[in-house]
Amino acid sequence: MDKFYDHQNYEKGIYKLWEKSGAFSPKKPTTHNQQPFTIIMPPPNANENLHIGHARFITVEDILTRYHRMKGNPTLWLPGADHAGIETQYVFEKKLKEKGKSRSDYDRDTLYKMIWEYVLENEKNMESQLRALGASCDWTRNKFTLDPKIVKIVYKTFKKLYDDGLVYRGERIVNYCPKCGTSFSQLEVNYLEREDNFYYLDYGTVIIATTRPETIFADTAVAVNPKDARYKNLIGKKAVLPIVGRELTIIADALVDPEFGTGALKITPGHDPTDFEIGEKHKLAKISVIDEKGEMINTPPKYIGILSEVAREEITKDLEQEKKVKKIEKIHHTVGVCYKHKTPIEPLLSKQWFIKIKPLTKLALTAINDKRVKIVTKKYEKVARNWLKNLKDWNISRQIVWGIRIPAWRCNKCFEWTITEGKQPDSCKNCGCQKLTQDPDTFDTWFSSGQWPFATLLTGSETSLKNSTPAAKGLKLAIDVPATEDFEYFYPTSVLETAYDILVFWVLRMIMLGLYATGEVPFKEILLHGLVRDQYGEKISKSKGNVIDPLIMSQKYGADAVRMSLIWGTLVENDIALSEDNIKGQRNFANKVWNVARFILQNKLEVPNVKSQPFNEDDKWIIKELKTLIKKVTRSLDKYRLNEAAEDIYNFIWNKFANNYLEKTKSRRNETQKTLEYVLRESLKLLHPFMPFVTEAIWQKDLAKDRNDLLINSSWPK
Ligand SMILES: [Zn+2]
Ligand SMILES: [Zn+2]
Repeated sequence: MDKFYDHQNYEKGIYKLWEKSGAFSPKKPTTHNQQPFTIIMPPPNANENLHIGHARFITVEDILTRYHRMKGNPTLWLPGADHAGIETQYVFEKKLKEKGKSRSDYDRDTLYKMIWEYVLENEKNMESQLRALGASCDWTRNKFTLDPKIVKIVYKTFKKLYDDGLVYRGERIVNYCPKCGTSFSQLEVNYLEREDNFYYLDYGTVIIATTRPETIFADTAVAVNPKDARYKNLIGKKAVLPIVGRELTIIADALVDPEFGTGALKITPGHDPTDFEIGEKHKLAKISVIDEKGEMINTPPKYIGILSEVAREEITKDLEQEKKVKKIEKIHHTVGVCYKHKTPIEPLLSKQWFIKIKPLTKLALTAINDKRVKIVTKKYEKVARNWLKNLKDWNISRQIVWGIRIPAWRCNKCFEWTITEGKQPDSCKNCGCQKLTQDPDTFDTWFSSGQWPFATLLTGSETSLKNSTPAAKGLKLAIDVPATEDFEYFYPTSVLETAYDILVFWVLRMIMLGLYATGEVPFKEILLHGLVRDQYGEKISKSKGNVIDPLIMSQKYGADAVRMSLIWGTLVENDIALSEDNIKGQRNFANKVWNVARFILQNKLEVPNVKSQPFNEDDKWIIKELKTLIKKVTRSLDKYRLNEAAEDIYNFIWNKFANNYLEKTKSRRNETQKTLEYVLRESLKLLHPFMPFVTEAIWQKDLAKDRNDLLINSSWPK
């Protein structure tokens, strides 16, 4: 063995050795009580390099996977990639812009093909990065959200939802970003505190207050609170819209907050979600005065075509000239902004596909109450319940090209929609005519990734687990697809591990859609991990210049060191502070393990046949310490307390085994050889899930019985 462990000489070769040996595929169980252990990997976006946040989840999931594999569970960690609709199109369009092009320079098919090629290139890159970090996922089952078989399942679920009356085409206020050119779901809108002008405008009989004078032409009523004594006599009377002089009825609605502004509210159902609700109740007309480009429409001609924020100034000037502006105050309020552009979201009236969410949230809440699905960290359970109670109908249409196109065709004659499982229908289901046009919109990415656990398992694999006891025995699929062996055996999966900031986006949607499509939860436990921050606890971002690239770090210090430092010192659920020094420190530990092994294994040759050794107090002590360690580490891993397990192993190897036992027994070196080897073997097994490369490298040097004896396949110490 070399004097120092040089990870660059070993990592690639060892990963190939594992992968070639088939170690990543689940083994058929030999007894009935070997329950499968399954993690479906949160598919990274196919548009980017892995960042340090990915490295954290890869580490956590790989530790759990390797641990359960060694414990004898038929273990599956299923990898994949997400097409990441809007995200990818956004990244791609930025690249186009650098070349002086935009999406409007290409037709739909060309643009789609270009993005597809870009994503394929990236996907390969991403996969090699997963390998570099030691991810022992089953590549034979690798999936992509746009695999035709996956898309087929997504379509089946959509059709089933439609047939069950849970999908509707609705005119609603959508959260539209004119810069992205698409609408967003409620969840994708960020909220910013900011100061704006609050204009008090004279509507004749009442003064109303608004932050958005440019929308006054879309007003269709003025509303007051029925209990507001100031306005009692005005209910049913008229107010007059400035500039155009149109009359508006003054209505009463309990949703109006008498404390806000003057207590009299302009009602603009075409540009505000609350006003939309009030408008529906009172059957008010809906007028749009801003279009999807953010430009004015349906206004007096002088404003038409002007950007809404410019129109605000113009209209205010004109109102001032008419002496209709009574005063202007400053107001602190929250504004919905695009999570990418940070520019205001334009609430627009639009026809989109919606999923009725209540029946689905009910399924999910029941499953959480029945503990069929458990959230490991209690504080997140509360968050989950809150969201499930407050989610609004889910807008699943996106006005982008990149993604799964919605299988809905509109008849050009009777304007009815025909929904299919993906194929173009022969004729309109309403009038039978054949003039049909497909909806240009694509599904919200989360609609397809929300089906990921069952979609990946239902699309099958080449590996057979025949005659294994199925986990999902007797499950009745609501969607019309045959159950595969993988689905029956691995579904519901064991644990879903992901970042806490996508609990609502992704995890809750998987629970809802999983329960809906399969009748069973997609996973039994949910382990949410915190963010990786820099050494000062700051969020890591390119703009701050504090990026820690996991691949550069693992080239420098080894993947093992990166992995250890990503779980060190804090529970998985918490944010972790990381610095290059932490990683360096763990590289030193890898070296220490290597040197301990070198010391022990060098002597192996010098004392080939040590007979039974006299056991003294020191030997008994180290064996007892080892047994205690095994129990503790096993318990910690079962409870997802990965840092405690890692720290205990580290402490044992460095302090108890190397500094204490090894030093103390140097004088009777030959006697202790067997104990040393035994403790070394068991320590390497315990450390393997955390630092798979250096442990396997040592194993292959001098501990493996033959070429097929891999540490990754060894049994967990008892
Ligand atoms: Zn945007
Ligand atoms: Zn028709």
